[in-house]
Amino acid sequence: MDRLWESFAALTAIDSPSLAEREFCDALKARLEALGAEAYEDSAAAQIGGSSGNLYGFLPGDLPLPPILLSAHMDTVEPGHGKRAILRKDGTVTSNGDTVLGADDVAGIAVILEALTRLRESGESHRPVELLFPAAEERYGLGSSFAEYGRIRAKQAYTLDLGGAIGEAANAAPTILSFEIAVRGKAAHAGFAPGDGIHAIAAAASAIACVPVGEPEPGVTVNVGKISGGEANNIVPALCEITGEIRSLSHDAVLAHWENVRHIFTEEAEAAGAAVTAKHRCEITAYETPLDSPVVKRFERACGKLGIPSNIHATLGGSDQNNFARHGIQGLVVACSMHDVHSTREFCRPDELEQCVKLVLALITEASP
Ligand SMILES: [Zn+2]
Repeated sequence: MDRLWESFAALTAIDSPSLAEREFCDALKARLEALGAEAYEDSAAAQIGGSSGNLYGFLPGDLPLPPILLSAHMDTVEPGHGKRAILRKDGTVTSNGDTVLGADDVAGIAVILEALTRLRESGESHRPVELLFPAAEERYGLGSSFAEYGRIRAKQAYTLDLGGAIGEAANAAPTILSFEIAVRGKAAHAGFAPGDGIHAIAAAASAIACVPVGEPEPGVTVNVGKISGGEANNIVPALCEITGEIRSLSHDAVLAHWENVRHIFTEEAEAAGAAVTAKHRCEITAYETPLDSPVVKRFERACGKLGIPSNIHATLGGSDQNNFARHGIQGLVVACSMHDVHSTREFCRPDELEQCVKLVLALITEASP
């Protein structure tokens, strides 16, 4: 357990913000090779504009079973420069309060490395294991969207990248659609000739007032997240720009709500004489791993072996598993001791890391397909 904690602390001490994972990737590659695993960095760096690609690894196994994929992402969110893991008297690990801790997702990486280390020491039989440590996951899974899927043979994956108690796992995640809308009116002097202008902010405001923000129906969320426009107090604003997102476990519901938002803006802008341009992008695509699939059943058996309850549910956050699912890899996103993530209050528990190592070992040493 000391080794696990030290490994976690050493990895969190390496700066690894999204698209600048170079040093972290090199350190991880060295760790994999020291464990006797094959390590290969793919060519995603150039495609995503980052300093590192995704790191793939392979550890042959002696059980005559197809490989399983274990994954955890290399990048962390900001503020993430100069992170230091501090072990507290209450058994938690935090940063010094100025940065995130980076347990998201160093916890997952430290757990995977420790599990492989123990296998090497014990010589216990295990199945072949493929590893993928993606870059830039925090940018809507950008790195893993460019992973070399032709190289990955596994059809089942466990992605260690979830908050909650050990034993929790997500089997479904949403589509997240981002949108950008520009409402274009006409500038005029606000004091001399306001009637000559078309007020872009007023048109946008009346549209936003009609958009059902919040949770317009169960399981669908719509948010207008940012608005900007106008130039000066004495000018009728010619331009107002709005960005937002829509998410749901139902891809079709997301598209339907986007149509509705676009329609509202078009109608309201037209009524005011303004024009609208609307752009959208599906950042990640929804998936659902059936509860009776082998990847879920194995997870439940592994939890049972450890005597911990398994708790499988949907999440409203995305992960690399969204991309894996698009390439035919069924999987779960597994809790690995990260709490209050994406904040400077983020913390992790070494006792949970230890429990998660045992869980991963149970997953890959089980002799059933
Ligand atoms: Zn994460």
